[in-house]
Amino acid sequence: MADCLFCKIIDGKIPSKKVYEDDRVFVFEDINPQAPTHFLIIPKKHIVGLKEAEAADAEILGYMQLVAAKLGRERNIESGYRTVYNVGPGAGQSVFHIHLHLIGGRPLAWPPG
Ligand code: 5GP
Ligand code: ZN
Repeated sequence: MADCLFCKIIDGKIPSKKVYEDDRVFVFEDINPQAPTHFLIIPKKHIVGLKEAEAADAEILGYMQLVAAKLGRERNIESGYRTVYNVGPGAGQSVFHIHLHLIGGRPLAWPPG
């Protein structure tokens, strides 16, 4: 997607602090972190958001959660972290390439805002 911010980050056209990459996903630090650990896990395939995902995307969506769990383990935040999709503008989605937030490293209140 030529005009997509996160596709440009995957392609290296826009710099980011890369955390992890493989053939299916790219993970980088959020530019405006909400916690000591705040990563964005994105598929290399351009998917607009969770409500636009299709049955064929089930595997990549599950894989993104497992990547989050792996990074949570590696970064020693397993005492408590959160994986979050903001779905739609009313929930704060501001970039329309699906991204799983991995947030941890501090106490996280519930319910979220
Ligand atoms: P959303 O609000 O859509 O759930 O999450 C988008 C996230 O992307 C926000 O937390 C925001 O800080 C982050 N973000 C927006 N633009 C950039 C960017 O250019 N680089 C990085 N690393 N993060 C970004
Ligand atoms: Zn994209």
